[in-house]
Amino acid sequence: MIDPFGRAITYLRVSVTDRCDLRCVYCMAEDMTFLPKRDLLTLEELERLCAAFIRLGTNKIRITGGEPLVRRDVMQLFQRLGSRIGGGLDELTLTTNGTQLAKHAQTLAAAGVRRINVSLDTLDPILFGQITRWGKIEPILDGIFAAKAAGLSVKINAVAMKGVNEDQFDGMLAWCGEHGLDLCLIETMPMGDINGDRTDQYLPLSIVRSRLRKSWTLEDTDYRTGGPARYFDVKETGRRIGFITPMTHNFCESCNRVRLTCTGTLYMCLGQDDAADFRSVLRAGATDAELDDAIRAAIARKPKGHDFIIDRRHDKPAVARHMSVTGG
Ligand code: SAM
Ligand code: SF4
Repeated sequence: MIDPFGRAITYLRVSVTDRCDLRCVYCMAEDMTFLPKRDLLTLEELERLCAAFIRLGTNKIRITGGEPLVRRDVMQLFQRLGSRIGGGLDELTLTTNGTQLAKHAQTLAAAGVRRINVSLDTLDPILFGQITRWGKIEPILDGIFAAKAAGLSVKINAVAMKGVNEDQFDGMLAWCGEHGLDLCLIETMPMGDINGDRTDQYLPLSIVRSRLRKSWTLEDTDYRTGGPARYFDVKETGRRIGFITPMTHNFCESCNRVRLTCTGTLYMCLGQDDAADFRSVLRAGATDAELDDAIRAAIARKPKGHDFIIDRRHDKPAVARHMSVTGG
């Protein structure tokens, strides 16, 4: 599938639930209301949509959320999609907060998952509790080690927040080096109402990078994932560090992805509100050919780029939906 700006769309991110067992301060309000279950696509509907995307040339699928591992029977979806690896699908991956990872690591590996992202913004148990509002760090560390033991490569994703975890990254880089993990730092994005002031949290990663350079040798690398991250080799550890800077750089030119929510809404761009509703297409009894046509029509509407500007005057998020809707 080629969009109007000549980009091949080969990567689908699928949010399988809007629910989560944590409440990270930058992601959700403490009293988030979640969708009624009937609004969610069933696992069969999710699989059918993924199969259609694979048929049309998608070769990478990332399962995300909300917290994907809290959805009941989600391992069935991994198993069914995993059976398509080699048959059109090249890679099946997962982004998780890690709370349920120890339990599922073996099954994920057996389903064909090879690489996962685990979100962890600090190694300090007290700060972790504050950022996630009530999370405990131990089960997450257990999950990361269980994933490594099951043979999965693990990348740690950390959202950089001014005055919150900005002093954590030296320690995290060393810890990742010790345990054979890559690290990726993310700038906060203005998505969804979180009962707080976004402009206070924003920390440009250019600052973080120059601070890290005082203690670490970051060497340029050609490594790319087709996404917005820019990677460096960390000479001292032999691992990589990535920086995702949606607010300061325009990464849209090489964008290869679209995002499907747990209700079957396809967002063609993380930073725009235009979307296509596939739940009604599925529930109206569309044939495979009709489904394929609807997907092609949506891709033809993929915009050129995002529009992330914090609306400072009105103190509103630039994009009204929460990150837990599209999974980032
Ligand atoms: N619950 C899973 C997790 O935390 O990994 C998957 C979903 S979560 C929405 C996906 C990623 O989005 C996480 O790495 C999280 O830190 C990031 N995220 C959430 N809200 C964000 C925001 N406002 N700005 C930047 N990243 C955000
Ligand atoms: Fe949950 Fe992930 Fe959002 Fe944190 S970032 S509240 S773990 S969905």
